[in-house]
Amino acid sequence: MESEKRSIGREALAELISQWRSAGKRVLAPKRSGDKVDFAWVASLEEISLDHVQTVQSPKAALFPRVEELFSFRSADGRVEVRERDLGALPETVVFGLRPCDAAAFTALKAIFNWDSPDSLFSARLARTTLVAVACSSADEYCFCTSVGGGPGAIAGSDILLTDLGDGDFLAEIVSEKGRLMLQGAEALFRPGAGREKERCLARVEKAFDLEKVDPGLARRFDDDAFWAGQSLRCLGCGACAYVCPTCACFDIQDEGGITGKRLRCWDSCGFGLFTLHTSGHNPRPLQSQRWRQRLMHKFSYMPERQGVLGCVGCGRCSRACPVDMNILEHIRAIAEARP
Ligand code: SF4
Ligand code: SF4
Repeated sequence: MESEKRSIGREALAELISQWRSAGKRVLAPKRSGDKVDFAWVASLEEISLDHVQTVQSPKAALFPRVEELFSFRSADGRVEVRERDLGALPETVVFGLRPCDAAAFTALKAIFNWDSPDSLFSARLARTTLVAVACSSADEYCFCTSVGGGPGAIAGSDILLTDLGDGDFLAEIVSEKGRLMLQGAEALFRPGAGREKERCLARVEKAFDLEKVDPGLARRFDDDAFWAGQSLRCLGCGACAYVCPTCACFDIQDEGGITGKRLRCWDSCGFGLFTLHTSGHNPRPLQSQRWRQRLMHKFSYMPERQGVLGCVGCGRCSRACPVDMNILEHIRAIAEARP
């Protein structure tokens, strides 16, 4: 993938963010609060954290909010009036400071929401959103982006990727047309970036497993109930892993109100016992072990087969968030390394 290289100093970057705000764009970026860093709406570069490994939540809510109104309705005189969302009123948004794995995750979300029939709300938000990622200068034991096709300085999925060069400058790789549009009117803030190298500034993330062996390993294990029971023994089915995951896109639909109300799309998780419970009382996945199997199969087998993308970008959030220390990297490695 080709990109155009520029460089930008810290002060010029602060000015660029200020220009976005003056132009009416919202800026969603990592912000520190106590010992946690999470995405929040910010007004300036000073508010943004750049030295953390990873945020608790992913930035997926920018395109797929936790609770989202699909339409509103009103019943009167035996008639139902439906009011559609005004998609043109959705705000222009810059997601700033997401990591390269998070940018790659938006590619997976695009594949899900545009699979069988395009999702108009998701697509409208996407059209108004620009991703300005910041490369990783540090990683922790939960990161495994390089095992799933990514990397601390990977540009795929970003519109612009910034790398802190450690000398007061950021390398700015302009990756997409949307990224080029961000430069319009701000050209003076950038300098030529040719010859500036980022490799020495990037975190080291060693490959932890052979991705080629995961799908066949999952297929071989599908009916091995004892294996899945062993893998999921500690799992509480709390759903924290799905809620922090940048690619998890399970949702349910609920109506709020009575004869006047809203239809809402709400995050859900295939790890919840109620997720697949039918009205009849039948549940095709009644055991937590089956739900854990579904989580891994969906990300590493079903999505590559149906949507042509992996459902995991190796961000490690699910492992950091799990209250009983389930580590997806260890589970996937066990599957990849198991003897046929
Ligand atoms: S966060 Fe951990 S305990 Fe909770 S559902 Fe996920 S794997 Fe299970
Ligand atoms: S499954 Fe875990 S490691 Fe993979 S993308 Fe989701 S949160 Fe990140």
